[in-house]
Amino acid sequence: MSVYYKSTRGNTKTVTASEAILTGLSPDGGLYVPIEIPQIDKPLSVLANMSYQELAYDIMSKFFTDFTEDELRKCIAKAYDTKFDTEAIAPVVKKDGAYYLELFHGATIAFKDMALSILPHLMVTSAGKNGVTRDIVILTATSGDTGKAAMAGFADVPGTKIIVFYPHGGVSNIQRLQMATQRGDNTYVVAINGNFDDAQTAVKKMFNDKEMQAELADKGFQFSSANSINVGRLVPQIVYYVYAYCQMLRAGEITEGDKINITVPTGNFGNILAAYYAKQMGLPVNKLICASNENKVLFDFFQTGEYDRKRDFILTSSPSMDILISSNLERLIYHICGNDSEKTAEFMKELSSDGKYCITDDMKAQLDDFYGGFATEEENFAGIKDLYEKTGYVIDTHTGIANAVYRAYVDKTKDTTPTVIASTASPFKFAVSVIGAIAPDKLSGRTDFELIDILSELSATPEPYAITDIRTAPVRHKTVVDVCDMAAEVKKILGV
Ligand SMILES: *Cc1c(COP(=O)(O)O)cnc(C)c1O
Repeated sequence: MSVYYKSTRGNTKTVTASEAILTGLSPDGGLYVPIEIPQIDKPLSVLANMSYQELAYDIMSKFFTDFTEDELRKCIAKAYDTKFDTEAIAPVVKKDGAYYLELFHGATIAFKDMALSILPHLMVTSAGKNGVTRDIVILTATSGDTGKAAMAGFADVPGTKIIVFYPHGGVSNIQRLQMATQRGDNTYVVAINGNFDDAQTAVKKMFNDKEMQAELADKGFQFSSANSINVGRLVPQIVYYVYAYCQMLRAGEITEGDKINITVPTGNFGNILAAYYAKQMGLPVNKLICASNENKVLFDFFQTGEYDRKRDFILTSSPSMDILISSNLERLIYHICGNDSEKTAEFMKELSSDGKYCITDDMKAQLDDFYGGFATEEENFAGIKDLYEKTGYVIDTHTGIANAVYRAYVDKTKDTTPTVIASTASPFKFAVSVIGAIAPDKLSGRTDFELIDILSELSATPEPYAITDIRTAPVRHKTVVDVCDMAAEVKKILGV
């Protein structure tokens, strides 16, 4: 079966997987969605015996049907190799009754590595398949983790350049250092005087700027996206939810066919959408628990059916979730309104003109798969501390949001379904906040790196290489621009 993709906002043209990966965003401003969701077609007990790489091939080949077996297997082999510090790639560990799916064993110690390790290979392969000869310029807005993971993936990949925009003052010091020290002659990092939504909106605008694209084309460049709007990010993220289920099956924690819950700390709605697709593919999933921080626009949406971004943007200790416009929600909206691109386009128009939209009762009825929750800073920190005191296991502040929301969900619903918690970052990446949660008396007067040493001691875990590297790596990127100057900066970088 061939799977084609179409835009959430246009009814006409369908594209292949490789075309969707190359362009990132559809020219009408919509996001590409698979026309049909392929089904898991082997018993889960068979999938449970596969390595991560084998399972990745099984799942991804169902979506990327215009890739040859050889092409896809090569991409997978290049992505999921010794860049990951464990052969399991994404291990599940059981602590205090919940199953933590550790997605932070890659090069930049955040879950973005799971997809961004493979995206560059998918993109270069897609360029070859479609006869693209221009250099691909990846434009990325980041709330902290995507930018670094994308650069790690694209650094020195021939035929590509990558430009990353991040909110000046809106990322953790470690995140900032990770980006500012990025190596590679084709990598560019620009801080902006604005927040993540400003960065994302400006990047989307450049994607839709036909004049700018023509100018770039003249100089031999074309844009693409490494943000989670790209299906080349979404599909690789489905793999680890199936893999988590398989690990629980293999460990005898569940029996074949048992349902699990999946809790995801959510920002742009990409990671949880992948879990939703896993469920649509036939993975036995009960509830998808969408965990937000104090920027609880999604919680309110699941409560009321109204998405309203008109509110204050709150800087929290889970910065990668400080988002008020969750781009990937558009894909869910499209599916729950019966794959109706006209309706979806109307909602998105309302969002951009009025800052909000309200879904119909019929659509709301289809959100039964989801449970929305949010946690405050205090609840997050208390949960991290509680888990640490009970088990010695330390989680980061993003995983902490999922943890707090899940524990409150169990208190409220008494649901005993085995639950996977997506662990989206290593605690070392957010050491200051994590120490603030588990041992606040140690904070005062200490630098980030001293706190990392303490974290290593308290958690009895060696420091990841990603941290060791930035202790000494020279800072290479220092540019800061205003939001209105982002396009000009791109042209300057490209010499256009
Ligand atoms: C990006 C990110 C998230 C949010 O994921 P989305 O796919 O944007 O919902 C959560 N935690 C961490 C650590 C992240 O980097």
